Amino acid sequence: MVQQVGNGLRSATVRTRNLSQILTHLHLEGATTRSALGEVTGLTRSAVGALVGELEAVGLVRELPSEPNGSRGRPSPVVDFHDGASGPAVLAFEILVDSMAVAVVGLGCQVLSEHRIARSREQVSAVDTVRDLAGMAQRCVVEAGSPEIIGAGVAVAGLVRRGGEVAVAPNLGWVDVALAELLAAEFADLRSIDVGNEAQLAALAEARRGVAKGFGDLIYISAEVGIGGAVVSAGGPVVGHGGFAGEVGHIPVNPAGRTCACGAIGCWETEVGERALLRRAGMDSDGGRVEVGRLIELAREGDATASEVFRETAGWIGFGLAGLVNVMNPQMVVLGGMYREAFEFVGDVVVDRLATRVLEPLRKVLVVPSSLGADAALLGAAELAFDRMLPDPVRWRTS
Ligand SMILES: [Zn+2]
Repeated sequence: MVQQVGNGLRSATVRTRNLSQILTHLHLEGATTRSALGEVTGLTRSAVGALVGELEAVGLVRELPSEPNGSRGRPSPVVDFHDGASGPAVLAFEILVDSMAVAVVGLGCQVLSEHRIARSREQVSAVDTVRDLAGMAQRCVVEAGSPEIIGAGVAVAGLVRRGGEVAVAPNLGWVDVALAELLAAEFADLRSIDVGNEAQLAALAEARRGVAKGFGDLIYISAEVGIGGAVVSAGGPVVGHGGFAGEVGHIPVNPAGRTCACGAIGCWETEVGERALLRRAGMDSDGGRVEVGRLIELAREGDATASEVFRETAGWIGFGLAGLVNVMNPQMVVLGGMYREAFEFVGDVVVDRLATRVLEPLRKVLVVPSSLGADAALLGAAELAFDRMLPDPVRWRTS
């Protein structure tokens, strides 16, 4: 009897794992033939058919008419997730210093609708921010065709405790903000609201479907007013004891430098953040994205001062990165935020700097711009929300 219970449990676990594997594969790779799903899972065609049937019954996937494949034998049916408003979707939120965004995102990270607005630099309370996000979300859901919303993910430029509390967000002026709770009060129907650091979530999105896909060891740098970062090691995020790892913006790099928003002196972001860049260019250091965009345009036009500002700043980017590369031995460094847009002016200098400061065996690191662009963190927030369902999709739909 005991043995039977054990076997029953084991087979339920195997079935759950197989269902998860099939849906996760479709989510990451898109429509796949039943026979290819057999190769992915190592299961027979009929076993895959039964699992696909289960996912179909709970409205997650559908089978498309198969195309004749030119070879003999029956062509394999194609399986895809339900897309558009016919499938389940999540709400993705992003709160940065200068902007905030909401998107409705379906399986496969298809963005069904998105709103992004500028955010005031004045310190806006979390309560007011959440109220604005709630209004944007309502419009987004309607524009997306009112799909079923199964959960939400939030990317925020701050240190996030497990449980969705923002411990501190120096550039937002927030301390101990129960962000998940505030959002839950606005969205009573949502089953889950998960909050993560914006750089960690951008790294997750780049690793799953961006430039870092297939790379298990990477460092992601997100640059705007503050400098955020995330380290992925052996395929998993390095989160640290309290979940706060990756605060690369506050690595001390200049003992004779400026005071940072965190209160310390000479943090990396005081040399490579947006304010440092604009200050070097003699522009309004609080000019935000508009002024950064103007500086990039000037550099593209060949303006000597603008080019020199990027060169000098890139030297500091390389200086800080060299330390990180020596410690973490990544395969790839992804530059996001404003340094994705300015990559053509900073990439070479950063690589040169690494060549002289990184130990020889660790120098094979690739330095590349983010490929998901401004939406990287937002897509990562959507991934975070889908991660609630993907490990046990049928139970999530039926319990
Ligand atoms: Zn700092």
